[in-house]
Amino acid sequence: MSRKILIINTGGTLSAVMKQNGLIPGLSIYDMQKELKMVSGDTDIEIEDFCSLDSANIFPEDWSALAKRISECRNDHDGIVVIHGTDTLAYTSSMLSFMLRNINIPVVITGSQLSITNPVADAMENCRCAIHMAASGIPGVFVAFNRKVMLGCRVSKVRSLSFDAFESINYPDIATISSLGMRIDTAAVPERTGIFKLANTYSSKVCMIKMFPGIHRSLIESIAGQGYKGLYIEAYGIGGMPFLRHDFTGTLEKLIKDGLTVVVGTQCRYEGTMMDVYETGRRALEIGALEAHDMTGEAALTKLMWILGMTDDPSEIRDFYSINMAGEMTLRQVSR
Ligand code: ASP
Repeated sequence: MSRKILIINTGGTLSAVMKQNGLIPGLSIYDMQKELKMVSGDTDIEIEDFCSLDSANIFPEDWSALAKRISECRNDHDGIVVIHGTDTLAYTSSMLSFMLRNINIPVVITGSQLSITNPVADAMENCRCAIHMAASGIPGVFVAFNRKVMLGCRVSKVRSLSFDAFESINYPDIATISSLGMRIDTAAVPERTGIFKLANTYSSKVCMIKMFPGIHRSLIESIAGQGYKGLYIEAYGIGGMPFLRHDFTGTLEKLIKDGLTVVVGTQCRYEGTMMDVYETGRRALEIGALEAHDMTGEAALTKLMWILGMTDDPSEIRDFYSINMAGEMTLRQVSR
C-alpha cells in the first residue's frame, strides 16, 4: 500500500512569483500540485495551505498553530512535509522539534533557493527528498535540503544564495542522496523517549544579544526592565564575557537574582561552549547562567522560549534546559 503524505505549504521562495514590489510567496499549494505530483513517486499525496508568507513574517504563534495542525494530522498520515521559506526555517524546525517531541511519524521541512516555477530551481529536488524522507517511516522532525536530510534542531542556514544553504551543526546528517540512492544513518536518529504529547506553548518574552567589544551593560538592564523572562547571549569563543572594566557578569548576576533566565552560547558556528575553562566563563556559570553547549543559536533560543512557556520555576527551567530534549545538544563528558 502506498504511503500517505500530507504536504503543508507556508510560503517562502519555493512558492514565489515576481510582483511589482519584488518576490513574494504567491503560489498556493494547488498551483504547485502538478510539480509535487511529478516528484512524489508512488506516495499518495494530500496537500493543504497553512499560510503564504515570506518566512521573515513567520512568528512564534505560527509555530504553535503549525505544531497543532501537524499533531492533528499525525494519525491519518504516514509522514508530513512542510514547505517553508529558508530564512527562518532553522528556527521553525528547531521549535517544531521541541513542540512535537516524540512524534510518531516523520515531519520533514523543506524550501528552496529558487521558485518551483523556475526551470533550473532546486525546488523539485528538495521536495522529492522531503517526500521520500516523509515516507521512510522514521519518526522525528527533519529538514531536507540539497540532497541531504538533517535533524531539525541541528540545522542553520549558512549560505544566503547557494543551493547548499543548510548545514547540520555539530551533528551528522541523517541521510544523504547519491548514486547509491538515499542512505539513512539510522544510528544518528534520536530515539523517542516517551509517548507523543503536543507541547505547543511558548514564551515570547525572550530576547537575544550578540556580545561585541564596546557593548554597553545598560542594554541588558533595559531588556530586563521591559519584562523579559529569558535572555540568550551569543558570547565569545567557548563562552566568555567581560567582567573587568565593563562588568557584564555583575549586571547579569543582579538580573538572574531578579528572575531572568540567562543562557550563554557562542558566536562560533562549530563546537560550542566550554564555560568551565576560562575565568570569564566560570564567573558566568557561578552567577547562575546556563550553558548552550553545542546547540545552534536557533535551537538555544527556541528551547528557551519553549521551556519558559511551560514553567516559571527557576530550578525546573535549569533542569529542563540542561536535558537533551530532541537531539539538539551533546552533553560533554567532563574528563578534567
Ligand atoms: N525570503 C525567503 C523566505 O525565507 C527566502 C527563501 O525562502 O529562500 O521566505
